[in-house]
Amino acid sequence: MPRCERKAQRMSTDRGLSFSFSEEQEAIRRLAAQFAEKEIKPVARRFEHDLEGRLAEEIIDRAAAVGLLALPVPKEFGGGGGSNVDCTLVLEELAVGCGGVATAIGASWFGQTPVMMAASAEQRRWVFPPLASADKGRLVCMAMTEPAGGTDIENPQMESRTIRTLVREDGDCYVINGRKLWPSNSDNAWLYTVVATADPKTGNAGSCLILVPAGTPGLSFGRPIRKMGMDADRNAEIVFEQVRVPRTHLLGRIGDGARLLQRTLVYNRVGAAAIAVGIARGAFEQALAWTRSRITMGRPLAQHPVIAAMLGDMATEIDAARLLYQRAAWCNAQPGQANMRWATMAKVFASEMAMRVTTNAVQVMGAYGYAKEYGVEKAMRDAKIVQIFIGANEFARQLVGELLT
Ligand SMILES: Cc1cc2nc3c(=O)[nH]c(=O)nc-3n(C[C@H](O)[C@H](O)[C@H](O)COP(=O)(O)OP(=O)(O)OC[C@H]3O[C@@H](n4cnc5c(N)ncnc54)[C@H](O)[C@@H]3O)c2cc1C
Repeated sequence: MPRCERKAQRMSTDRGLSFSFSEEQEAIRRLAAQFAEKEIKPVARRFEHDLEGRLAEEIIDRAAAVGLLALPVPKEFGGGGGSNVDCTLVLEELAVGCGGVATAIGASWFGQTPVMMAASAEQRRWVFPPLASADKGRLVCMAMTEPAGGTDIENPQMESRTIRTLVREDGDCYVINGRKLWPSNSDNAWLYTVVATADPKTGNAGSCLILVPAGTPGLSFGRPIRKMGMDADRNAEIVFEQVRVPRTHLLGRIGDGARLLQRTLVYNRVGAAAIAVGIARGAFEQALAWTRSRITMGRPLAQHPVIAAMLGDMATEIDAARLLYQRAAWCNAQPGQANMRWATMAKVFASEMAMRVTTNAVQVMGAYGYAKEYGVEKAMRDAKIVQIFIGANEFARQLVGELLT
């Protein structure tokens, strides 16, 4: 190795910091960017009229066909073996095309995370190969939120006492009864990772995660809920009425649920942050192009000092949010370094940033920003829920503060 290269290598090791991605990561990021450009962007504004979810299904099938959907599935089962860094890079690119598509895919990975962490060899053999398949896009639903509240189920201080979805042993089976409301991929998932309890009075000791395949008798759905944004993602009530699954569908043991859920959130809050960055970037790129060509007072809008400063702030905030989520993702990808504080900081900052950036993108584009045709107003509507889901920001900020002490 030439001397200068050796020195450069030593320096980068000395500093312990690198801002480059591997060739593999660049390739997967490019694939996701091309997918967003060619497959998602041209149809992104049609999702709000896609009430049956056919268009979303087609896009998910295509994401499977090009290998994006299987990214986190372990390589031994035909997946991409992607780390949290790889997955969040992809989510950012997908969200540039459409926040809802990125959310449906990110939420599917959310539901797979506890399987990755706690599944037995037998569970891994039946769950992962179909999720890695390129012939059909299969989604997982992380069924956590209930009608009486989502935040309290995520809040470790509540010790799983507000979960009302019950599991009961019955011979070789568990019987599940309860209701979930709002999970992504509610009525179109292939597999449900259900947050439940054997007895809410026992707190975390009763908590568990249990796998329910689509089509299991007793599993039914309400009508998909019409929302402000994120239309490519389907959210509905999920009803479990005497749903029987073999005991082998439990992840770990009764009592493992709370710990697994909290570990899962560390990975998937970073995914939400990446989605927020992608949504903001999509709106920003449009606003930048617009203000470069729109002329007022004889010069491009982008050259007016007030607008230039707004664009500068938008670009700075997007980068800052990206650095936060990439640090959190990098930690998550190192053995034993997963960090709840950094994941939650990234989610809070990125979602607040996305709301500001998308609002300002509408502002600098004037009436055109407000028009459906350009998709910037869609980004603003999509961004809003990232402040709420996977840890509402009011609760999440408090959590970060508590983790400091
Ligand atoms: C598009 C979309 C995708 C979703 N995906 C999923 C999914 O994949 N899986 C899933 O299980 N759920 C999912 N959800 C549900 C989402 O996670 C919940 O809506 C969220 O957790 C908040 O729960 P909630 O709506 O019941 O609000 P609540 O818990 O009732 O909270 C309402 C508001 O009260 C405030 N608040 C609540 N608790 C506190 C506190 N402790 N301190 C301070 N303020 C507080 C916050 O402002 C919060 O926004 C999704 C929802 C949507 C719309």
